[in-house]
Amino acid sequence: MYPTKLRRWHSAMIRTCSALVLLACCWTPVFANGLQPFRGPQPVRFLVGTNWQTGLHLIDSSTESLVMARDGWLHTVAADSRQTKMQPTRKRFEPASAMQMRNQLRAEFGSDFDVVATQNFLVVQPRGRGDRWPEMFEDCHRSFVDFMTKRGVQVRHGRFPMVAVVLPDARAMYAELDRLKIDVSRVSGIYANRCNRVMTHDGGRLASIAATVRHEAAHQSAFNTGVHSRVNDTPSWITEGVGQMFEPAAINSAGASQRIGERVNAESMAHLRKTMTLRSSKDLAGWVQRLVDGDEAFRDPVEVHTAYSVAWAMMFYLSERDNEGFADILNFTATRPPFETYRRGQRRIDFERIMGTDTLTFANRLARFLNDLP
Ligand SMILES: [Zn+2]
Repeated sequence: MYPTKLRRWHSAMIRTCSALVLLACCWTPVFANGLQPFRGPQPVRFLVGTNWQTGLHLIDSSTESLVMARDGWLHTVAADSRQTKMQPTRKRFEPASAMQMRNQLRAEFGSDFDVVATQNFLVVQPRGRGDRWPEMFEDCHRSFVDFMTKRGVQVRHGRFPMVAVVLPDARAMYAELDRLKIDVSRVSGIYANRCNRVMTHDGGRLASIAATVRHEAAHQSAFNTGVHSRVNDTPSWITEGVGQMFEPAAINSAGASQRIGERVNAESMAHLRKTMTLRSSKDLAGWVQRLVDGDEAFRDPVEVHTAYSVAWAMMFYLSERDNEGFADILNFTATRPPFETYRRGQRRIDFERIMGTDTLTFANRLARFLNDLP
């Protein structure tokens, strides 16, 4: 149904808007112009509200500094308050332990919520909701790591415990998003890069929001295991293609389904069949080129559905038919220099070099693959 899907696009756009666009628009130009060379992250003390925290000073732009806190949040310090709100320190930067973060979350959410610790997560949920959510997040992450590792993608152990917040209903979730100043409407779950949290709610039928949660959980896993970088500009067809790929339940169950039909994102596939012919690459080629070159279509309400569907198709094709290309494009984009604008021409050059072919031939192969799917 339209609104459900829309919620997911909104959510993905929020992530893009709040983090990547911020980084791309505000931070990059300084470095792209070569005005401030990157010296590598430095430990600092910095002021958040009235509290001094220890963090890692990542980078400066002409207007702000970007600092990562011990809980994995990304904070900004305005350039004109750098002197008063940020000081160098000799203390080593240590990410918060799971125990410290658990205590912090208990204080933050109060006695109406449990904080359940699993191997990789701290799940904040209304009291007495049992293991359903913690198991779901844990399963999603395990399947993600397994899927990526099998295909040669470099996966590292995350530095921060991942936090998933389950609010009791949609209204409580919007209130929480408001509190965090995340401007969003009509979503059933989001991954917010700035606070490194997945947020969703328990007020509807799980089946109706499960695909969204799996999509957002895949973003969180990707950004926490180094499959994507939180501080560089990864093309949206790659990040959203990965998100879309993990929506089907079959990819997230133990020992992902052997049947390709169950791994297909049925909604993306139906949209592609409805909007373009797949018997040739006539329609697809233009889309592949647009997504390889830039992210504009993901921000255009008229085009966003097709952008997500083509992104899914590209990543799914690579993961099924070209493991090397799949691993190489992820490993390459994850290790690009931080805060550097990824320019259109360069995106195309890198894509064609990594795939060993031009976008047109790639689109031909993709069309044949899609046309043959059950
Ligand atoms: Zn997304």
